Amino acid sequence: MFAPRSGLEALKPYSVEEIQWPIRLDANESPTDMPQAIKTKVIEKLAALPFNRYPEISALSLKTTIAVGFGLTAANVLIGNGSSEILEALCYAFGGAGRSIVYPSPSFSMYGIYAKLADSQPVPVALNADYTLDADKLLAAAKEAAASVILLCNPNNPTGVVLPPAQIEYIVANTKSLVVVDEAYHEFYGKSSVNLLSKYPNLAIARTFSKAYGLAAARVGYLLASEDIAQTIGKVLLPYNVNALTLATAEIVYNMRQEFAASLAENSRERERMTAALGAIAGVTVYPSQTNFLLVKSDTITAMVARLSARGIGIRDFSTAPGLTNCIRIGIGTPDENKAVLEAVTA
Ligand code: PMP
Repeated sequence: MFAPRSGLEALKPYSVEEIQWPIRLDANESPTDMPQAIKTKVIEKLAALPFNRYPEISALSLKTTIAVGFGLTAANVLIGNGSSEILEALCYAFGGAGRSIVYPSPSFSMYGIYAKLADSQPVPVALNADYTLDADKLLAAAKEAAASVILLCNPNNPTGVVLPPAQIEYIVANTKSLVVVDEAYHEFYGKSSVNLLSKYPNLAIARTFSKAYGLAAARVGYLLASEDIAQTIGKVLLPYNVNALTLATAEIVYNMRQEFAASLAENSRERERMTAALGAIAGVTVYPSQTNFLLVKSDTITAMVARLSARGIGIRDFSTAPGLTNCIRIGIGTPDENKAVLEAVTA
């Protein structure tokens, strides 16, 4: 007889509404497509790609391109089908039956799912009321659970709040767990924990091309870590896990990443404008964000969601999620999209 493996039936799938909103501010994507200068190069390269061949088995070319910028070698880098694949793989590689994976809550909802898929015990540790992290509380929870992995998201999704680099160093220095800093939104913040890699062998950094580099369609992310950690996680990745079209595209995007400076600057301007404008509405709290989205709380959130959706604006509704009562996450869009958001919520 066949049946799902134990624990799988109780696992809720990652669910996002598949609605094609005219204004899509629900997935923290870049609101604009990649700059034309990059797209032209990508299309030229894809046109010359031998589609009959498997990709480079170890994605060596992209790994080297990324490593060089950090003063690392290709052996310190893993490339994934989105950073999602990297995060899942590291839970498989360093989690497993009888082990625990600790992470702050609320944070990226997939952490708990990856822990369960790896047969590990998920141990969410509640953030403070203002969504800052109590590092000692997290360390105590990790110690008590003898955690093999601690997952930190900096800046944090869906709150937008940052962990100061010194707090991350304090955590890494005071635990024997593998600490993974998910820097999916790092480009919007500017600060990173990459410089700590040479000092702490229990640290790894995950990054993605899906947000600031506007490459969500291609699915590409990467991990920076010691050779040992990278090699271990590499054991659970499938051969040829990232396709040749994505590898070719990502390499061009990475080499031309300075082209995103204008969109990053616009995001930051618009984020400050939206924080002030939404925060000025009576009864609305906007949490300080260093990302491309805002977490917004209001006692009348249901009415706000209804007004946004009536105008074709998709946002992520967390209002009934643990630790996020009455909260929604609104992506920073183009200036016109943000104007539409403000018109909808103040109507
Ligand atoms: N980490 C965080 C914090 C995220 O918000 C996301 C995407 N929502 C991911 C990882 C996964 O991104 P991707 O798989 O597109 O690289």
